[in-house]
Amino acid sequence: MEDEYSDQIAALLAPPSSQSIQEYYNSLKEAGKCDGLNVRDNGKHGKAVFASREFKEGELILKDQMLVGAQHSSNKVDCLVCSYCFRFIGSVEAQIGRRLYLQSLGIYGEKECEKEHPIHSTNDKMERDLPPKEMIESLLNGDLSLPFTNRFELPEAVPCPGGCEEEQYCSQSCADADWETYHSLLCTSSSNKQSSVLLKFIEHANETNDIFIVAAKAIAFTMLRYRKLKKSQAKDKGKGLLGKMDNTSFSLLLEAWKPISMGFKRRWWECISLPDDVDPTEEVEFRTEIRDLASTSLELLKDAIFDAECAPLFSLDVYGSIIGMFELNNLDLVVASPIEDYFIYIDELADKEKEEALTITRTFLDALGDDYSVSCQGTAFFPIQSCMNHSCCPNAKAFKRDEDIDGHAIILASHPISIGEEVTLSYIDEDVPYDKRQAMLADYGFTCTCPRCLEDCPN
Ligand SMILES: [Zn+2]
Ligand SMILES: [Zn+2]
Ligand SMILES: [Zn+2]
Repeated sequence: MEDEYSDQIAALLAPPSSQSIQEYYNSLKEAGKCDGLNVRDNGKHGKAVFASREFKEGELILKDQMLVGAQHSSNKVDCLVCSYCFRFIGSVEAQIGRRLYLQSLGIYGEKECEKEHPIHSTNDKMERDLPPKEMIESLLNGDLSLPFTNRFELPEAVPCPGGCEEEQYCSQSCADADWETYHSLLCTSSSNKQSSVLLKFIEHANETNDIFIVAAKAIAFTMLRYRKLKKSQAKDKGKGLLGKMDNTSFSLLLEAWKPISMGFKRRWWECISLPDDVDPTEEVEFRTEIRDLASTSLELLKDAIFDAECAPLFSLDVYGSIIGMFELNNLDLVVASPIEDYFIYIDELADKEKEEALTITRTFLDALGDDYSVSCQGTAFFPIQSCMNHSCCPNAKAFKRDEDIDGHAIILASHPISIGEEVTLSYIDEDVPYDKRQAMLADYGFTCTCPRCLEDCPN
């Protein structure tokens, strides 16, 4: 397959031209998505973001809506969020009840713990005293309300329009948008005749690397855009109003792919950094293994959603490059937990009120343990933020304020920024010496020549 479509695959993976970059980001600007900013090809290392007005220190520069993203599979037991905008949904009671319920089934956060705390892992959680089953149930079904939760109201959960139980939303508009943008191809409802093969794909991703789920969403996104473009073109043709776009289906596919084409890409198995526990002499084997893993995942995805008109999208090169894009344009999806805010609020009440509230809430807080505050975490690609270049003396930072309760990337000015100045972020912890910074940045595939590095450079 790779041979038959090699020209088309090369066209999909070619970096966008200056003109194409200009057109795409102008269209975002016209849609009001990046006021005060200009994105352009800087002629040196690809795209860069420049301020088109002044920003004061601390001022909001950008609220960037993700193009594609997903909550980590292991995080789904901790937080119930809207599958489209990633706001917490349900109620404080339902969030707590759901977690304790999953904890009582013994499937609570296993993976995460094993990875991060190999020694004192799940046992700690298993041994923690859970409230009686009936109490957890009454939290879940809304019979038991906790004090002061009316100050932390969350949107009611809206089900998937396709009828699967996997995805829930904060509103009908999020449910519809998700359906139209990605989920109609990936819904595992029993009414979808592909659901059993889709479940195999998802299971494989959950067992190996959930980045495959985000990659599948990127492919579904492109296919659905392609179908929409084709439909509107057919309509124009019917009216004799064929626009300037030529009518071969591949040019429509390229157009549908455009938003994803903007992300800097390399093949996953080539750009992934070698884990510490892999011996450098085994690097070739390691990279082959990663490639094989992606290949297995792609075959499962093809079984579920392959469309001959979009065939080049299902090549291993394209699949690997989409995954590499998520690896290289690394800004994690994070949404702070309102459960954390709730327990902090209780803790800050005046003595008598606090004592009264605690008689009810203490059991639950103890049962949740230190993880009561776990935030929603996942992988996402942000179209404008991903164009911001690195500097070890950046003038902006990604920072969620109290009011930022969904999955948007929030970029604030960390210094005053003047008109025409490039907006930069630090991709790493920049408070370390020169050598360490360069070593960390090598994972992103470049040598930093920011003003600070030029000064610190030994040569
Ligand atoms: Zn939503
Ligand atoms: Zn669904
Ligand atoms: Zn630097």
